[in-house]
Amino acid sequence: MRYIFVTGGVMSGLGKGVLASSVAELLSESGILVSMMKIDPYVNVDAGTMNPYKHGEVFVTDDGGETDLDLGTYERFLDRKMGRNLNITTGSVYREVIERERRGDYLGDCVQIIPHVTDEVKSKIRQAASKEKAEVFVVELGGTVGDIEGLPFLEAVRQMGLEEKGRTVFMHVAYVPHLETTGENKTKPAQHSVQALREIGIQPDFLVARSSLQLLPDEVQKLALFSSLSPSEVIRLPDVPSIYMVPKVLKDQGVDTMILLKLNLQPKSQSATHQLLASRFSNLPPGPEIAMVGKYVTLRDSYVSIVEALKHAGAALGFNPKLRWIDAEDVEKNGPKQIDGVVGVMVLPGFGVRGTEGMMASIQRARELRLPFLGICFGMQLSVVEFAREKLHLKANSTELDPQTEAPVIDLLPEQRGLTKMGGTMRLGGADIAVEEGTLLRKAYGKSVIRERHRHRYEVNPDYWDALRNAGLLFSAFDMSRRRVEAIEDPSLPFFVGTQFHPEFNSRPLRPSPIYLAFLQAAVSAQRGIKPPLPPWFSWPESRCEDKL
Ligand code: GLN
Repeated sequence: MRYIFVTGGVMSGLGKGVLASSVAELLSESGILVSMMKIDPYVNVDAGTMNPYKHGEVFVTDDGGETDLDLGTYERFLDRKMGRNLNITTGSVYREVIERERRGDYLGDCVQIIPHVTDEVKSKIRQAASKEKAEVFVVELGGTVGDIEGLPFLEAVRQMGLEEKGRTVFMHVAYVPHLETTGENKTKPAQHSVQALREIGIQPDFLVARSSLQLLPDEVQKLALFSSLSPSEVIRLPDVPSIYMVPKVLKDQGVDTMILLKLNLQPKSQSATHQLLASRFSNLPPGPEIAMVGKYVTLRDSYVSIVEALKHAGAALGFNPKLRWIDAEDVEKNGPKQIDGVVGVMVLPGFGVRGTEGMMASIQRARELRLPFLGICFGMQLSVVEFAREKLHLKANSTELDPQTEAPVIDLLPEQRGLTKMGGTMRLGGADIAVEEGTLLRKAYGKSVIRERHRHRYEVNPDYWDALRNAGLLFSAFDMSRRRVEAIEDPSLPFFVGTQFHPEFNSRPLRPSPIYLAFLQAAVSAQRGIKPPLPPWFSWPESRCEDKL
């Protein structure tokens, strides 16, 4: 087993996850089995209870873990399902240590950060690596060197560096800011962050210099000198138009070859996914605008998997979708006029009552304008409420938003009743879904059974199924027991689809989510009256989309 540890310096938000994933992707191109882990130094046991507005999206793994959004990046780059055990936090480590102490497993020892907590970290890393059967295990440490909460993790990986001599590589990602006034790239903060890492006892094998502009040779030289590295071990990573170009940027600098050499590994085969990625995602013209209606629109990371899914689908169609972010609360105050001029509308996942009337006003406007609509989870639930209000003239709502509502068309899942703990208790993870024949969903996926992921407590209330159907709503997918609606469509409109599941979690850069692809395709064809080229595996329902336009 070999390990690559990725640390960060100077500031957060540098794309450490993208770097780590790109390295992993390049190594897997050499035929090496690679998997990844994310360590988050926060005290939460998992990301599930964190506000997406502050922390970004909660990524849901197929096995039902609510994890850090970086696991989504790993899945997208490696095209491999990640398990919930591949994300550990201070909270999850301490919970284990404390439970063990309560059981008396430490036999009277005084339980300390070193060695007990660090041992637990090391054992979690090693266990996960061996469960993954990885030859190389890439471990990304969240946070920035110098953070107090990250120290036990850095100490644990420092020890692993000694214990696994010759089988570890340390990569440090640091920011090199560009100073407008003097026109220079400033290397000092990155130098200092390497120093901070060395004080802990870790000498990086590579320094990845994140910058907005390309670094000059003398700047690279300076960074190398102060980091005790050769200039080729200073990897330049300037901003690029798409994250999917990063593997190629690294490949061009020989990063994979240098890492394999250090790990004493031979490449087994060679594929060129980095080239496919770079060619699909570079030079994409901007596409027409899609409205993105939600509650957490100021922090784009809140919906990162959805944004990436749209990018994957857009790239397959030959453009980069332009997103018009619309704050649902703003629609509540000022009406849905921001919708006008877009070619498609998405209503995004969410929780709680704030902004929901704005989301429903947006859905109603999308209906009026006959715009292609895709509602995900909460967005689907609200489209059902809106439908019931519009077509059945009910004072409908979801009991999540109004527990006393006269017509609870969306209600708690039966197994959710009586739950008091919020953490990890939703309907979570992947499940098989039966897709009905003759539906847009079936045509998009081309399959009668699909597997997608979930994260919800509410669903379409079975008491209203008949009424909704009689009013023209089509239930296009069910869970395998057929007791639960998984997707809806309104066949009176060209493209009106809501999914209770989250297809974005399974979207991959070179294999976009079928329903996102169908949605974007409907949106652009509605606007231009043309059909962009489609990937060979995709078949579009010819008549449904065009007949009413
Ligand atoms: N709040 C809704 C529920 O719990 C929707 C959740 C979501 O959009 N992920 O069912």
